[in-house]
Formats: sequence, C-alpha cells, structure tokens
Amino acid sequence: MEAEVLLALKNQFSADHVREKCPLAPYTTYRLGGLGEVVLFPHDADELARMIGRLSWFEQPVSLVLGHGANVLISDDGIPGVTLVLRYMDACRFDGDTLIADAGLSADTAAQVARNAERTGLEFLAGLPGTLGGAAFMNARAFDHDVGGVLEWAELVEPSGRVKTYYPNPADFGYKRSPFMGAAAIVSRVALRTWHGDGDAIEAAMERHRALRRGRGEDRVLSCGCVFQNPGTREAPAGKLIDDCGLKGYGTDHAWVYAAHANFIIHDGLAAAAELRALFLEVRRLVHERTGVLLEPEVRFCGAFEDERTFAFHHDPARGSRA
Ligand SMILES: Cc1cc2nc3c(=O)[nH]c(=O)nc-3n(C[C@H](O)[C@H](O)[C@H](O)COP(=O)(O)OP(=O)(O)OC[C@H]3O[C@@H](n4cnc5c(N)ncnc54)[C@H](O)[C@@H]3O)c2cc1C
Repeated sequence: MEAEVLLALKNQFSADHVREKCPLAPYTTYRLGGLGEVVLFPHDADELARMIGRLSWFEQPVSLVLGHGANVLISDDGIPGVTLVLRYMDACRFDGDTLIADAGLSADTAAQVARNAERTGLEFLAGLPGTLGGAAFMNARAFDHDVGGVLEWAELVEPSGRVKTYYPNPADFGYKRSPFMGAAAIVSRVALRTWHGDGDAIEAAMERHRALRRGRGEDRVLSCGCVFQNPGTREAPAGKLIDDCGLKGYGTDHAWVYAAHANFIIHDGLAAAAELRALFLEVRRLVHERTGVLLEPEVRFCGAFEDERTFAFHHDPARGSRA
C-alpha cells in the first residue's frame, strides 16, 4: 500500500484504529493466518463509512472484511492491502420491536439483548459464533431459522463510501446464500425483527441452544464451524457423508476431522493454515472418490493458498472417537 494512504488514515483516525503488519490470527476462531498489511478497526458504523470514503479517495480497495472470523481460514501469508475488523462496532438499540445494531455486534449478544427486552425471534442466534454482519453475509442458520428470515433492512457502505439501505426480498436469501455475497458493499448496520415474548421461555430456548453447542464441545475446539456446505436435499448432509467414509480422526499431525461433528476440521493450535487447507482438499477428494459427491466449501478461504506443500495424512482412531 502507498505510504501516503497509510499516513492519511493515521492522520484522520485514532492510532489504535489503524494498525500496520497486524497479526490476524487473534481475530479468527481458528486462531490462524498471517499478518494484515494494514488493519482498520472502526468503532461504529459512521466511522466505517468515513474509512471507506477515505480509502475510495485514494482508490484503495478493501481486501478483506472480518466480523469475528468464525467462518474463515486466513492464509499463512496474510492479507495484502486493507483488512477491516468490525468486532468493535457493537452499538445497538430497539426501535419499537426492531433491534437496530451495528454489524460488529455478536450474534449471541443480540439474542441476549432481545431476551432482556422480553422480545422473541432471535433465540436461534444464542451461542452462534460471529457478528451480525457476518451472520447476514453468510445467512447463518441454526435451529431451523436463518438471518434472512428476521432481517428488516441492512445498511450498506458502498466502495465509494456512500451509505445506502437494502430492503430484503425473501428470494434473495437461501441456504448459505445472501445478496451480500459477491457484492462489494459492506454491511454496516442491520435491523432485526422481534416480537413481544415471555422472558423465561426465551431464556429456556436460548439455554437449550447454547447447551447443544456445548454438548458438541464447540466451545472447546479450534474450528470455523462446518467447513463444507450440505450438498442438497437428495444427498446426506456433508457431516454424515464424511462420517460414512470413516474419516473421523483422519488428518495430519496437528489437524483432523472432529469426532463430535465430522463436518468440523479442528486443530491442536500447532497447525498452519496450509495444513488445514490441505486436509480440507484431501477430505473433499476422498468423499468424492467414495461417494461421487463433490462437496462445496462453506469456509471462506482468505488470501493466497499455494496448495504446494504436502502433508502426511493418517487415521488416528483415538482422536476419532474423542468428543
Ligand atoms: C463453533 C462454530 C459453530 C458454528 N455454527 C454455525 C451454525 O450453527 N450455523 C451457521 O450458519 N454458521 C455456523 N458457524 C459459522 C459462523 O458462526 C457463521 O458463519 C457466522 O455468521 C460468521 O460470522 P463472523 O462475523 O465471524 O463472519 P466472518 O467469519 O468474519 O466472515 C465470514 C464472511 O462474511 C464476510 N463478512 C463478515 N462481516 C461482514 C460485513 N459486515 N459485511 C460484509 N461482509 C462481511 C467476510 O468477509 C467473510 O467472507 C459456526 C462457527 C463456529 C466456529
């Protein structure tokens, strides 16, 4: 990146909102990935729009947007150019029954805020890792509900810095599909529909969801959730296909297919991103060879992956049977 762009950003925004050569691993649930050349940390939606406007003035594109990094695998080589980390933009308020939140608010907090206001509709977000912006982008789905089903509107920042409001059409959302994918705009705020409900019933549903996730040990492993999309209604879910291929516990020295959920690829904290990527490709190849189904990624690969390093794979039944 040109030195004058960096200087302009540092002059306009607080020092701790603009960082150079910043490790990105701490901003992901995998805790993997190299350095971001320049990383910007807006603290509210208006500051985000000002940052994008400034970048646009210099014709500097954004390379990557990160919420909580709960669905990404970032390359060991890091991300050149500008990465935006939105987790500190987390203001929210109710306007009637609508929860209006900056995109960096955590999904779990949104559910809790709704519960505290005795409003139902967001219980499915309890325990879901990630921000509301990331959940809207991914159309995150849990317990038979998805974000597209409760989104009233979203505020978007276009690459020029212009802010516009998007009103959804239900057809825009589908399984792992949202209108924000493939668009250059960044989700800066969301408005979520809620209804008046009984606080105890809402609390109980949220606790059921969190307990189910704890039961699978989701909070104890380094993962990005499901790495593959489910292939379609005529096929078994991706996790079942992987399990049926006997791949639980299969992996490298430091990364393997998780016993409690075969669609998770987890690691022990010593793996490289390249290792996770190699295992992802190997599992995909084996499932294709054995079932004829070519699984599509749910995880978003960010940055450059050479796929040249080779890793030795083996099956470890002990870690395969461990939950
Ligand atoms: C243990 C575990 C369990 C999970 N369970 C589920 C589950 O049950 N259901 C489910 O659907 N997912 C699940 N996931 C995946 C993850 O929780 C969701 O995809 C979540 O919505 C990701 O949010 P995030 O803020 O972390 O997004 P990130 O991982 O930071 O980003 C994901 C993608 O969205 C883009 N993005 C993020 N924020 C914005 C924004 N504001 N504007 C534009 N683009 C943006 C990023 O560039 C990236 O392409 C799980 C993950 C983990 C680790």
